[in-house]
Amino acid sequence: MVPPIFKKIIQILDSFPEIGPRQAWRLFFWFIKQDKKFQEKFLESFDVLIKDLNFCKECYFPTIESDLCEICSDKRRDRSKICVVSRETDLITIENLKRYRGLYFVLGGLILPFEDKKIIEERLKKLKERLDKDKNIKEVILALPLTKEAEPTRKELEKILSSYNIIIKTPKRGIPTGGEIEFIDPETLKEALDL
Ligand SMILES: [Zn+2]
Repeated sequence: MVPPIFKKIIQILDSFPEIGPRQAWRLFFWFIKQDKKFQEKFLESFDVLIKDLNFCKECYFPTIESDLCEICSDKRRDRSKICVVSRETDLITIENLKRYRGLYFVLGGLILPFEDKKIIEERLKKLKERLDKDKNIKEVILALPLTKEAEPTRKELEKILSSYNIIIKTPKRGIPTGGEIEFIDPETLKEALDL
């Protein structure tokens, strides 16, 4: 009943985070009802994305055709501060507050008991290299979610940072426990991160 190409696309959509089979079908039927121009634009954009995608060599935020992201290459940013976030979406949330003018570092996840630690270990190593190399860095803000899950990552970061002469800032209480950065209201977040 279902052509194999449909199934193949559903399998792809179903593998996206937070998308289940039902939503995958819904997205699929929505997409095939859009006009051809939209569908072509969609594919073209993804084509460009896949071909030119890069990750910033300083902070790991995705970039296009460049090895430095816009923030890291912006000379007006305060280079004495690094804000460590777990996910890219947390960086976007903090940028949208329009208060923080320092730099970032994206961990790409958290240290979790049953998950592959390769990416995060690699990035922590890179963070150390950055701190060794860049003596302008005076302050690191640990903008990790205030969840139990994030504790091992926070401890590991504090351990790493303790061997540098750097001010470590962690979000103040006041953020609801269990608070994911992207779901905290802007005013609370500004206050918690002391921005
Ligand atoms: Zn960057």
